Amino acid sequence: MKVLSGKAAFKGVAIGKIREFGAKKVEVNKTSVSDAEAEITRFEAAKETASAQLGALYEKAVAEVGEENAAIFEVHQMMLEDEDYLDGIKGMIRDEQVNAEYAVSVTGQNFSEVFAGMDDDYMRERAADVKDISARVVRILAGVEEGGAVMEEPSILVAEDLAPSETLQLDRSKVLAFVTRKGSTNSHTAILARTMNIPALVMVTEAEHVDGLMGIVDGKEGKLIVEPDEETLRSYQDKLEEQKKEQELLNALKGKPSVTKDGRKINVYANIGGVEDVEAVLANDAEGIGLFRSEFLYLQSSDYPSEEEQFEAYKAVAEKMGGKRVIIRTLDIGADKQIDYFGLDKEENPALGYRAVRICLNKREVFKTQLRALCRASAFGRIAIMVPMIISVWEVRTVKEILERIKEELKEEGKEVGDIEFGIMIETPASVIIADELAKEVDFFSIGTNDLTQYTLAIDRQNAKLDMFYNAHHPAILRMIKMVVDAAHKEGIWAGICGELGADTTLTEEFVNMGLDELSVSPGMVLPVRNKVVNM
Ligand code: PEP
Ligand code: MG
Repeated sequence: MKVLSGKAAFKGVAIGKIREFGAKKVEVNKTSVSDAEAEITRFEAAKETASAQLGALYEKAVAEVGEENAAIFEVHQMMLEDEDYLDGIKGMIRDEQVNAEYAVSVTGQNFSEVFAGMDDDYMRERAADVKDISARVVRILAGVEEGGAVMEEPSILVAEDLAPSETLQLDRSKVLAFVTRKGSTNSHTAILARTMNIPALVMVTEAEHVDGLMGIVDGKEGKLIVEPDEETLRSYQDKLEEQKKEQELLNALKGKPSVTKDGRKINVYANIGGVEDVEAVLANDAEGIGLFRSEFLYLQSSDYPSEEEQFEAYKAVAEKMGGKRVIIRTLDIGADKQIDYFGLDKEENPALGYRAVRICLNKREVFKTQLRALCRASAFGRIAIMVPMIISVWEVRTVKEILERIKEELKEEGKEVGDIEFGIMIETPASVIIADELAKEVDFFSIGTNDLTQYTLAIDRQNAKLDMFYNAHHPAILRMIKMVVDAAHKEGIWAGICGELGADTTLTEEFVNMGLDELSVSPGMVLPVRNKVVNM
C-alpha cells in the first residue's frame, strides 16, 4: 500500500481501478526536407483539419456543458490562427528546412514556456492549451488518431494534466475521480470535477506507474491510496456507503423549503463564479444565488469584457434561475485577484490596497459598463446588485448615485430596467462598526467572512503559515456577525453570510439563532446546510 499526497480539488471518496490517461504521444523526430514550401502546405492542411476538429468539439461541448465551458475550444481555434505562432512554425520550416512535425512541436513548446512564465493566472493556464493545440496538429501530421484511456469499467483517471479537450472527450459515466500530477485547483479539470460532482485531486506528483492498480481517492484529505491493504479498503468502503446514504438523505430535501421546526425560514443560496455553475445550483436546489463573483468574467478575458458580453452572462444566469433572487457582486479585483489589462501598480500591501469598489470609483467607465449590463439584465429576472469592500457611507451613496443615473440613461434609451435590490458586503471591521448607518442606505447586507476574518484578526488569508492562528470561530467574528444582524433588523433589512463560514454546518444553528436570514454557500453545500436548518 502506498499513500500519495496531493491537493484536494473536490471532496468525496472514490474506489476503483486506476487508469493512466494520455493522448497517444507521437515520437517527433527532426528530419530535413528539400521542399520547404511543400512542407508548409502540408502544415497548413493539418492546421485546417485541426481547426475543423475544434469546431466540432465546440459544438459537442456547447450541447454537453454549455457555452461558457465550451468557449475554450473557440480560444483554441483562435490560438491556432495566432500570427506569431504560425510565423514561428513556418519560419522554422523555411529557415531550417525541417519537417512540419518538428517545427510545430518546438514552437508549441516555446510558446508554452512563455505562457508558463507569466504572472497572470489566466495566461499561465494557456500554457497547457498551446501544448494541446500543437499536439493535435502533430497527431494529424503523423496520421495518428486521438488517444485516451481505455476504460471498460468506471475508473479513477490519472493524468499528468488534463487539457479541456481531453476532459470533454471522456465517457463521463466511466470516471470515478480525477487525479492529476500537475494542475491547480483552478484548472479546468478541477472546475469540471466540481460541476460533475466527483472527487478530484491535483498536484499528486508521485502518482507514477499506477496504471491498472487498485486505488482510493480521498478528496477530503487530498490522498491517493494505491493498492490499499484490506483494512484500509474496508474502512473506505464504509465511508463510501456512508457518503451514498448521506447523499440520498440530502436528495430527499430537494424541493423542500429551508424552514426550522418552529417555522423560521432561512434562505439557503449558492455562490457561483460564472454562468456554467448555475447547473450545479439548480441540481442542488438552491433557493437563489447569494454571490456571483463577477470578477471571474474579467479574469477569464484578455481585455475588459464589453457591456454586451456582460449583459449576456448576467441575463443567462437570471433567466436560468427563473425568478429566484440572483445577487451579483460588482467587480472585486485587486489583492489576490490581479488582472494584467487593468495595469495596476505592484503594491506593498495589496490586501489593504487598491481593490474592489476603490477601483470602481476611480475607473468610472469600467464600473459604468458593468452597471449598465447589470441594469439591462435586470429586465430578465430578479437581479440584486452588491458592492464589496465598503468602509464608508459616502462610498455607498456615490455608487447609488451612479446607479440611478445609469437607470435614467437606459430609460431614455428606451431600454427596460427591472426592480433591482441594492446591497453591500460587510467584510471590513469599519463597516461592522457603522452597520447601523449603512443599514439606512441599502436593502440588504451580506457578510464576507473570508475578508472580515482577514481584516479583523490581521491574518493574511493567503498565508498558509498562519493557519494555526486563523480561527474562523473567533469570538470577535461571531460577535461582529451578531452586531451586523441586529443593525440590519433595526432598519428592517435582511442580513446573510456569503463567506466560507456560512457553509460551516457546526455553526448553522448558532447563525439561525443570531437571526441571520440567508446563508450562501458552494452549490454542493446547499443541501447539508438545509439539512441542519430543517432539523433544528
Ligand atoms: C468574503 O470575503 O468572504 C467573500 C465572500 O468574498 P471573496 O472570498 O471573494 O473575497
Ligand atoms: Mg471578500
